[in-house]
Amino acid sequence: MPVIKPTCVRDLKLRVNLADVVSRVVTLRKAGARLKGLCPFHNEKTPSFHVDPDKGFYKCFGCGKAGDVITFVRETEQLGFTEAVEALGQRFGIVIEYEEGAGPSREERSLRQEIYEIHELAAEHYHQVFKGATPTGEFMRNYWVTARKFTPELADEFKIGAAAPQDDGLAAVLLKRKFSEDALRQCGLFFVRDGAALTLGSLRPRFRGRLMIPIRDHQGRVVAFTARQTDLTPADDPAREAKYVNSPETPVFTKGNLLFNLDRARTAVGEGKPFVLVEGQLDALRCWSVGLKTAVAPQGTAITDTQLVLLRRYCSQVECFFDGDSAGQKAALRFLPMALKAGLEVRFLGGAAETKSDPDVLFLAQGLAAYEALRANSLSAMAFACHAVLPDPANASSEQKSRASRTLLELIGAADSEVARTEFITEAATHLRIMPTALISDYRRYHARSPRAEREPAGDKPSAPPSAANTHTPELHLLMVCLHYENMGKPLSTVLPHDWIDAGHAAGALLNRFLAEFEHDSWPGRDHLDGLLETPEEKALVASLLFDTPAFDDPVKVANEGLRLLRTRALEPRLRQIELDLANHQADSKADPISLLKERSEIQRQLRQPLGLTAAV
Ligand code: ZN
Repeated sequence: MPVIKPTCVRDLKLRVNLADVVSRVVTLRKAGARLKGLCPFHNEKTPSFHVDPDKGFYKCFGCGKAGDVITFVRETEQLGFTEAVEALGQRFGIVIEYEEGAGPSREERSLRQEIYEIHELAAEHYHQVFKGATPTGEFMRNYWVTARKFTPELADEFKIGAAAPQDDGLAAVLLKRKFSEDALRQCGLFFVRDGAALTLGSLRPRFRGRLMIPIRDHQGRVVAFTARQTDLTPADDPAREAKYVNSPETPVFTKGNLLFNLDRARTAVGEGKPFVLVEGQLDALRCWSVGLKTAVAPQGTAITDTQLVLLRRYCSQVECFFDGDSAGQKAALRFLPMALKAGLEVRFLGGAAETKSDPDVLFLAQGLAAYEALRANSLSAMAFACHAVLPDPANASSEQKSRASRTLLELIGAADSEVARTEFITEAATHLRIMPTALISDYRRYHARSPRAEREPAGDKPSAPPSAANTHTPELHLLMVCLHYENMGKPLSTVLPHDWIDAGHAAGALLNRFLAEFEHDSWPGRDHLDGLLETPEEKALVASLLFDTPAFDDPVKVANEGLRLLRTRALEPRLRQIELDLANHQADSKADPISLLKERSEIQRQLRQPLGLTAAV
């Protein structure tokens, strides 16, 4: 593995603004000198995730996660340290320097990084084919403009591409760039026989004769493609009959974790502009083309909880616009309980049977004006569900009503708050034309039987509560002193014997290590501690301590109190043991009372000694 120079890491942390990095994932608002938003690491409704751009640290007061810009990228993108630094370097145009030699060889570069690069090159390649003066290019442009009714400008904006029926151009480009064998085998763009050497002939393109839509992750990196079948799709394409073929899952692409167009839509949502969830990428592109910039689409599969959590990071309001056909309605009904559980506020556009419509067709014909009309007639989550399970309550039999109410009660049980559940019950009762009190007692009975009645609401519970066990140890107080009053580190190191410190937990281990640095005059300064931090737990702890402003004015007093506690903790057990031995002396003559007495008075003297930090500072 290539090792990045510590100076380079330091430089990167100084140059990259933490707020810029976090705000790609979390919508931040000003809160004094700091910024605040919904925590990306746990599910919450009121922001407890704080970012201090000046110090370069973040901390969540809900779940306790804390760290710097590198930790943030590692945790939100599941990257290793090196990969995270490389990713930041690439994003902010900072050249990454490595220990020894000029940099990592192709083999040493991280696999994910290579697969990202391969996808950028592939997107460019397919786009050039789309624009080229070849039969494939001409066919696809014509298909785009005439059959799909999109503009050439939109194709440029989203880098729409074309895969020719026969083309080894992409393989040639990638082989020339000397990507690793692993990356070429795992990028998902080719079929390669196991054991075959990688050559132009053995890299068989997965996508042929198809319109290529690049799929970007929420940061805008191309990670996959969706390929639309056309008349050029050859007869020997293994997926000939499939209208849409997606990239397989790869180290950079998990279908259920990604929403098409989220990278753009997330900057357009908020302030009365909810997400618009549509079924397909072309629907989302249609929305974009008429100026509705907030549309997102799942990856050709049913929507997942992960995708909904991702949405909620940016905006909790979602308008669902699925096709008016029965498949679309079923998808909407499957989606609804998940959305309620995720705490999303959902409305349905064109959801009622009488306004059946398809987003692509509708927006193409009427433009953005159609959206406003749809919104005016949109249905709340419960109204939509009621219409779906019982379209005509006025003429329904009591048997039909009771079946419908069971379905609705199950749905209502998914909602994440008591308030929402109560509102839903009232709404459902009105629609079913029954007394709300009757439905409420049904609800109670239903959930008393249901095993899920015991379930905790999914609300604001942090996923991992901050560990309270070590939060008030003397070691922690002394660490706080060392980090916020660095001039006290050296004097502390001279008066605090190392064996008083309990190094069995992170705070103690760190205090030991920090004091050793102070003692040898090699303390790197609190902004450059990376080299001293060995585990993620230590990094999180230091970030958390640096983030907090000390709750005391007099560090000397706090340090002396910490010293006193450590001394008592270290010496008193021995003192008690000596007293026990002295008391048992008659029975057990092996102990030497004279030396025991001497040791006792020595310990008592130590315990009485004033703790002299005042003079030292
Ligand atoms: Zn949190």
